[in-house]
Amino acid sequence: MSFESRTATRLRPFMTTIFAEMSALAVEHGAINLGQGFPDTDGPESMLEAARRAITDGHNQYPPGIGVPELRHAVARHQREHYELDYDPDREVLITVGATEAIAGAVVGLIEPGDEVIMIEPYYDAYAATVAMASGVRRVVPLVEDGDGFRLDRERLADAFGPKSAVFIVNTPHNPTGTVLSDDDIAEIARLCIEFDVIAVCDEVYEHLLFDGRTHTPLATLPGMRERTLRISSAAKTFNCTGWKVGWISGPPELIAATKTAKQYMSYVGSGPFQPAVAHALDNEMGWVRASAAALQDKRDMITAALLDVGFDVHRSEATYFVCADPRPLGVDDGIEFCRSLPERIGVAAVPVSVFADDREPWHHLVRFAFAKRDDVIAEAADRLRKL
Ligand SMILES: *Cc1c(COP(=O)(O)O)cnc(C)c1O
Repeated sequence: MSFESRTATRLRPFMTTIFAEMSALAVEHGAINLGQGFPDTDGPESMLEAARRAITDGHNQYPPGIGVPELRHAVARHQREHYELDYDPDREVLITVGATEAIAGAVVGLIEPGDEVIMIEPYYDAYAATVAMASGVRRVVPLVEDGDGFRLDRERLADAFGPKSAVFIVNTPHNPTGTVLSDDDIAEIARLCIEFDVIAVCDEVYEHLLFDGRTHTPLATLPGMRERTLRISSAAKTFNCTGWKVGWISGPPELIAATKTAKQYMSYVGSGPFQPAVAHALDNEMGWVRASAAALQDKRDMITAALLDVGFDVHRSEATYFVCADPRPLGVDDGIEFCRSLPERIGVAAVPVSVFADDREPWHHLVRFAFAKRDDVIAEAADRLRKL
């Protein structure tokens, strides 16, 4: 019996991920894996120490379902300090098993079967699977090229909204393109969410990893949006601890209640000893984060320079761990085939962007490189890329 036939129909499109395939190829050929987006160095030492201490001090049983108070308070303080957003740590902040569970909890907790969930294309792969699990219907708004960067397709944005629209998953800074949505794009999303009574679920896990002096504007700060927005972030990308799976979601009490109802039967609670450690990091280690963002900008420059040297067209990466490159000037048209061949040819792995899109055509050539790696690893990857 095939694996497919045993898997629920609505989940069959999601059985394999590109990351598994490319990571396996990377291992097979001893390639540097610039496919998957995780850092290869640890977060701030005081945060790691706080986690060790929490274990020693006996924080090893179920924490409260909504998260430990020190982390909920730190999350609320953090948003007040950075964005002047005020959230009640007891009713408006929920700690989750990474941003992933926050997104899943929000979608499952908010939508009815058949409701439409809008997302930006290309999209983070978990969004589509989550909407399928909730028996929702996915609607996409594509990014389009704009100079060497990307912006939202405004016509498609307006077309995506209708009477069945329930939620818009807004991801900025954006994975996989590294785009920071412009103030105009954000304002237009806000206007449409209000007009169509749509709830914005904002995935802002890269909120602190912006380059070249850019700033991040949470959708929740726009007029009329706080009451219809769930803001999601996570320690994973901010503090280089993707394996800890500590995330959080903030919003008005009724939207948090809906999310919590789903979340409490997904995982019940998040991991205990990591929560006080992340609270410590939010309160004390934002200097480390600023240095980390500056270092990421340099890594972006290193990998971008190497890609330009060998003749790729490179899209501007404004934030995140990622840069997208166009290999067509090298005579390569198919990003998927290109990524399948790259580990064997030169010992570097990357992922094709088209797998993150429903309409693959506009993206079929594009390739995403992750640069949250040690400088020596980036330098070696750059040398290998120059062999192309
Ligand atoms: C990495 C990532 C996540 C997952 O975050 P976790 O906290 O590890 O669950 C969610 N959204 C985007 C866009 C990401 O890149």
